[in-house]
Amino acid sequence: MRILIVEDEKKVAGFIKKGLEEETYAVDVACDGEEGYDLASMNQYDMIILDLMLPKMDGLEVLTRLRDNRVNTPILLLTAKDAVEDRVTGLNKGADDYLTKPFAFSELLARIRSLLRRGQAETKTELKVGDLSLDLVSHKVNRNGEEIELTGKEYSLLEYFMRNEGKVLTRTMIAEHVWDYNFDTFTNVIDVYVNHLRKKIDKNYPAKLLHTLRGVGYVMKV
Ligand code: CA
Repeated sequence: MRILIVEDEKKVAGFIKKGLEEETYAVDVACDGEEGYDLASMNQYDMIILDLMLPKMDGLEVLTRLRDNRVNTPILLLTAKDAVEDRVTGLNKGADDYLTKPFAFSELLARIRSLLRRGQAETKTELKVGDLSLDLVSHKVNRNGEEIELTGKEYSLLEYFMRNEGKVLTRTMIAEHVWDYNFDTFTNVIDVYVNHLRKKIDKNYPAKLLHTLRGVGYVMKV
């Protein structure tokens, strides 16, 4: 699970990031609204923690633009205690929950877990690309009715490809979503894993699903 924190107060951002990383979440931090909007548009986060008072673009505008562009990632707003109107506006504009500052980390964590659960209940339990299917509950992968055994990392990689069917995924995007933030110095590892995965899901089948775009990245499509 990968979470974006959009917060200009370094202390607050650092405190949330550290706590979430201890809970094994992968975490990115944006220090202003523009950066937050850009990161949230480019990457597939599982959750966004969005402060309302931000330089460059305020939180409500970030929220509005993301929802207008059909970014449906769950968003938890951080608001000042007396900002009732902002909270109401935020919820009306498509935020999923809010927390008033200052807050206890345990409460933030509880709310994140609750939002992630809600998201999961609503999403489908199976991904399909052509005759390839991936069961998000049992973690079973099938192609043309045959079960395919994958390692944990190959499974994460395949899930990411299937969730983004038809979209070109660069090595950076793959690294950011499937590996944690410390990963980027070993980018050739991605190619190695993609080749392992390709052998398992494509090699024995005439129709290839995982395509290489030389110099760009990969795309999964029928
Ligand atoms: Ca702020």
